[in-house]
Amino acid sequence: MIANAVTGPYKDGKADIDDSIALVIARTRQLGAHEVGHTLGFAHNYIASTNDDDDVMDYPHPKMSVDKDGNISIKNPYREKIGEWNKIAVNWGYRQYANDEQEKAGLQKILKDAYAAGHQFVADGPDSRGVSSLHADSHLWDFGDDVLKATKQMYEVRKVALAKFGLDNIADGTPLSSLEETLVPLYYLPRFQINATAKSIGGMIYGYEVKGAGLVPRHSMVSRERQDAAMDLVLEALSPDYLTLPKHILDLIPPKAFGYELTNESFPRDTGASFDALALVEAHANHTLGLLFDRYRLARVNDFNVRDSSQISLDRYIVKIAQNTILAARLDDPLKAAVQRRVGHVFVHYMMMTAADNEASPAVQAMAASHLAGLKGILEEKIAKEEMNREYKAHYQAQARRIGLFLEGKYMPKASDLAQIPPGEPI
Ligand SMILES: [Zn+2]
Repeated sequence: MIANAVTGPYKDGKADIDDSIALVIARTRQLGAHEVGHTLGFAHNYIASTNDDDDVMDYPHPKMSVDKDGNISIKNPYREKIGEWNKIAVNWGYRQYANDEQEKAGLQKILKDAYAAGHQFVADGPDSRGVSSLHADSHLWDFGDDVLKATKQMYEVRKVALAKFGLDNIADGTPLSSLEETLVPLYYLPRFQINATAKSIGGMIYGYEVKGAGLVPRHSMVSRERQDAAMDLVLEALSPDYLTLPKHILDLIPPKAFGYELTNESFPRDTGASFDALALVEAHANHTLGLLFDRYRLARVNDFNVRDSSQISLDRYIVKIAQNTILAARLDDPLKAAVQRRVGHVFVHYMMMTAADNEASPAVQAMAASHLAGLKGILEEKIAKEEMNREYKAHYQAQARRIGLFLEGKYMPKASDLAQIPPGEPI
């Protein structure tokens, strides 16, 4: 589905799907090797993608790029061989030694040589999996040795593929309403790279430090420069330019054909039977702001700043997100303006959920509550003093009103109020 969404292989009644089939076979081959790895006793190693897919125990995302002719290339989507780390792990786990002394020295040498050659191991769980995980270079479903660079590449692929998206993305004889389910993985295509990029914010770089071993460098916070660049990339995914579907796509997708229904792999919608140009935006913003407002990330942003004043403060962090969402300059284009308002709504929702989150750190709750009080004042002043259309006025009024009710303890937003992004792991 991802391959067909980006390449549009059904031109002129033909099905040019060789690359799509090759991708599926390459993925199946990789997955087979991965499961054999588990059978041999090996754990996930999610940093391997930064090291030329050094370990089949990573979760790989298919590699794709825009070629020189402006087409999406999915050639060589996955590495076709096991990694060097796999050979090292087999050597470490299965080599026989004559006695305990030789075994101890031999195993140490294998690891020492491996780390000296640049191989790395970072496991699953709190290091790599989930929104809150800490390691800035170890992720599920990312690719490439530079997470920010790969994210920009995926944004470019998405932009080009959306511009071309149309009837060539489904086979002849397929109802046009099925374009929607083909579009879902494309519209949200960079989501795993965005997850990975967000992990630079309040993230750390580290290996597993052992006294006397000296295999890995000491752990460190991600540099301010990289955190700022990551923040800009994540905020780009909240911008109206990024989130607004091109009009040719909105005009193309009809209501569901008889016998076909919406599934959990369709876009969310508030519009009943017609395609909804805005609920899909809400779902994307929900995903992206969920990364930025993760309670552990917020606590780390604050923690890093109080330990090292060159790191961004939680205050400036929230201001920066607000300036790119609810407080961004109003737009004239009606569709982009509506997208911007929808993102602002989700931002306010997250701010209230954070202020009310008893599991967030007290400093995080306090800063979110303080900014909400300030934001209510800013919105009321805008309504009173600035010229704007009815849509923006209603939006600002609604946000100011619910912030007021929230601060008085009369309203509590829930995560389930927001549209959810459909599942989409490239398994
Ligand atoms: Zn596995």
